[in-house]
Order: sequence, then structure tokens, then C-alpha cells
Amino acid sequence: MAEHNEGFVLTTVDSITNFVRRKMVAPVLDTKLAQFGVNWARKSAIWPMTFGLACCAIEMMATGAGRFDIDRFGAGVFRPSPRQSDLIIIAGTVTLKMGPVVRRVYDQMPEPKWAIAMGACASTGGPFDSYSTMQGVDRTIPVDVYIPGCPPRPEALLYGLMRLQDIIMREAPSAYIFESDGTVRRQRSFAEDEQTAVIAAPKNSAEAAA
Ligand code: SF4
Repeated sequence: MAEHNEGFVLTTVDSITNFVRRKMVAPVLDTKLAQFGVNWARKSAIWPMTFGLACCAIEMMATGAGRFDIDRFGAGVFRPSPRQSDLIIIAGTVTLKMGPVVRRVYDQMPEPKWAIAMGACASTGGPFDSYSTMQGVDRTIPVDVYIPGCPPRPEALLYGLMRLQDIIMREAPSAYIFESDGTVRRQRSFAEDEQTAVIAAPKNSAEAAA
């Protein structure tokens, strides 16, 4: 017996595997202890992609050198292949012609993966409000952390990296569950978001009316 799902043919074994992943593996991964351990391991061994587009990339290279030493944060192993990377730092101006290439490189990275937009150009297009420049790389890939500046100094990149580590520590490890058809169920659970939802809920009908 096989079920069809967006062009993929899933066998009964696939369906059972997906069910076990979602219903049995995910709850175990999301216990407090497992969450801390998995997230700590992930944030302490980020492998960035060797990828630079313009002047900001020079600051990124400086961050990897001895004076600033990104290795202190466990993120010094720049990889020459997207298949071995879990962080892409978009350092520089993204042209419209380069956009599909950035997307392809990002798609080739395995989950879990994160993206940092480094500098004004990568975040918003910067000073280049022109026909050829993409007005922010988030038009082609999802971005986790934006770093302002033209260019941002290496300290700013390190600060952005620490903020990314904070995000990773607040993720649910089960967020990256691979289905047998290749899809990734990616979502994040932030404790503060839940707190906000509770605070925002009206306590009684009078408050709701107000
Ligand atoms: S933000 Fe400034 S330094 Fe960075 S790529 Fe754009 S123009 Fe160059």
C-alpha cells in the first residue's frame, strides 16, 4: 500500500517511520535535559560556510584570524562545501543575479541550518538602491540574525554569532524532524513567546471588552 504526497510515493513503512519520529522520538528529544544537551552541542560547534560576496567578507575573514579568533565560540571551522556547513554568513552585496546562487547554496546545506545577514547590504540592500541589487537577502533565504553596519566590525559579527547561539539554545531539538518524503518539519519554541501569549490573554470579560 502506498500513499501519494506532493509527488512522493510513501510506502506503509515510510508512514510508520514518520509516525514513530513524530510521536515517539520528538517527545523524548524535547525533554528539558535532552533539549539542553542537543542545543548546547549544536551551538558550540557551528560550522560556517566559506562564502563571501563583497567588502563585508573582509571583516568576516578578520573575525576568523588570530586577533578576534572566532574559534573561541566554536565557530572557526569554515567549510568549503555547503554539505558540511550549518551556518551561512551572507557577507556583502547580493545582486539579483547572485540571488538564485545563494538560494542554491543554502538549499544544499543540511538541516539544522542558520543564516546571518552581515552588514547593511545583506540586510537591506544598503546604499545600493539600484536595479541590480537585491534589497535584503531575506528575499531569497530565511535569515536568523541581522547585523547592521557598513561594514560591521568583527566584534559585531561575534555579537551576532552569540545572539544566534541564544536562539539555538531556545529551539526545540525535535523541530528538525525529517519525513520520509524529504520534507523537514521546522519550527521553533521560544519560552518568551509562550510567556507573551499568557500575558496578552485577557483575565475576564470586562478586560476583554476594555
Ligand atoms: S554593507 Fe558596506 S562594507 Fe558591507 S558589502 Fe555593503 S557596502 Fe560593502
